[in-house]
Amino acid sequence: MSFSLEIKRELTRIDNSHINCMHYELSGMLRAGISLKTHQGRKRLLFVTENASLSRHLFSRVKDLYQSSPELIMLKTRRFHNHNVYMLEFSELLNQDMQSFLNKMGISINETEAQIQYYPIEISDKCCVRAYLRGCFLATGSISDPDRSYHLEVSFANELLAEEYINCLKVFDVEAKQIKRKRYFVVYLKEGQDIVDFLNVIGAHNALMKMENIRIIKDVRNQVNRLVNCETANLEKTVNASLRHVDSIRYINCTIGIEALPGALREIASLRLENPDKSLSELGKMLNPNLSKSGVNHRLKKIDKIADELRLKGQ
Ligand SMILES: [Zn+2]
Repeated sequence: MSFSLEIKRELTRIDNSHINCMHYELSGMLRAGISLKTHQGRKRLLFVTENASLSRHLFSRVKDLYQSSPELIMLKTRRFHNHNVYMLEFSELLNQDMQSFLNKMGISINETEAQIQYYPIEISDKCCVRAYLRGCFLATGSISDPDRSYHLEVSFANELLAEEYINCLKVFDVEAKQIKRKRYFVVYLKEGQDIVDFLNVIGAHNALMKMENIRIIKDVRNQVNRLVNCETANLEKTVNASLRHVDSIRYINCTIGIEALPGALREIASLRLENPDKSLSELGKMLNPNLSKSGVNHRLKKIDKIADELRLKGQ
């Protein structure tokens, strides 16, 4: 099951006892998800989803609040993997009562122009703002699998709805961005922390825990990778320097002989030859008395310099 589907399943199971919250959650679902289609000259007011639990949830919410139910139609489609598509049809209900029911949700149907008009809605309680945010996400929201990337979006057919959504999120200090994609106005979040905050706001607490766990694992994995990369880089540096030193010492040995070097240099030269895999500080600790890393480096540089001079002289 996709992460989106998992979250939506969790959201439809939230026990909502506050009647106003139920109203605003339904407003969110309808405002984001309803569409008016003209089919064979007939106007149809539809809510279409591939999510069975969402269609059941919406169906029972309308029934609870409106005391009348939309028609539920299931279509089988061969698109992708034999998905089922659920259509909730409100067309038969488009009477005076239904119109005023929709008006309470800030929706008005202009049948002659086959258009849905949206009006701004005022939400006074924070719990209801949460419910509204949840409703819209249920209808048209999606989230990518956090194992792969962080992306959450909710799309709207109308710019007013997108701006309203962004403002509702601001109530909880979540800053969302907006982009126009085809004829949709898409509100999105790309930061892991924003998505976690969002899930908290809409009450998807199980999904939130799952996402936090994945973030922790990802974090640790990144840290380990960073450390390994640093160690590899250091090791390469050590190996390259060591190869250069060994090269110089051998050159000196073949030309003037190691014995020709001053005592301190001779000592480090033999140590380096015998321990090509040791770091400078390790070499320093093998000396008696111990010598600092920079002290060792200083002596080996002198050896490099002597070798370079010999090479120049062509000896
Ligand atoms: Zn409320």
